[in-house]
Amino acid sequence: MTDIARNLAAIRARIAEACARANRDPAGVGLVAVSKTHPAEAVVAALAAGQTVFGENRVQEAQQKFPPLRADHPALRLHLIGALQTNKARDAVRVADVIASLDRPKLAAALADAMKKEGRAPGLLVQVNTGDEPQKAGVPRAEADSFIRACRDEHGLTISGLMCIPPAEGDPRPHFAFLANLAAKYGLATLSMGMSADFEIAIAEGATLVRVGTAIFGHRDYPAPA
Ligand SMILES: *Cc1c(COP(=O)(O)O)cnc(C)c1O
Repeated sequence: MTDIARNLAAIRARIAEACARANRDPAGVGLVAVSKTHPAEAVVAALAAGQTVFGENRVQEAQQKFPPLRADHPALRLHLIGALQTNKARDAVRVADVIASLDRPKLAAALADAMKKEGRAPGLLVQVNTGDEPQKAGVPRAEADSFIRACRDEHGLTISGLMCIPPAEGDPRPHFAFLANLAAKYGLATLSMGMSADFEIAIAEGATLVRVGTAIFGHRDYPAPA
């Protein structure tokens, strides 16, 4: 068994335990294995251990790593979870199955256009900057309602859920709860929240997807931009 297989088994067990504590069906919590900065070999090791859903921050890195793996692994699903530049929208639509960082009107327009041109419709999650942190991607809290409605009504996009990254310091729970309430208000089924340090709390607050990198693949040698 590789370290990655062992780590995945441990994370799956912790997800199951967190679900049991929260009286939730573990089938309702998906694991996104965040492979950013790690080589394709690490993804292959995770695939061999039964993991099919992966997360990457950067379009270019995703383009290099994932398309070559899809032929042998048709079940593979890629979530783009990093801040997305408008001029990368078309590449993102081509490479991703889910884009989890929709956070501004210009990007909504660019994605709508790219989806039409590519004839491909990745799932879309609106990222909310629940801590209103200036350095962080995501729509500000106060604009989240109007942005979700604009995506639907003005850009004709189907939003499947919400994503957040709470501030590194402090209790993430109120951030997860805010996101869960907002999703419920709009009937959005997918809640992508919780990382290596806090995914069990996120599950208690209703996460349907947890994004775990370090606890599966180990520490990253160089930081990926958020
Ligand atoms: C890197 C990253 C993760 C994974 O973080 P870990 O702490 O390594 O588990 C999850 N979500 C996003 C958006 C990330 O950029």
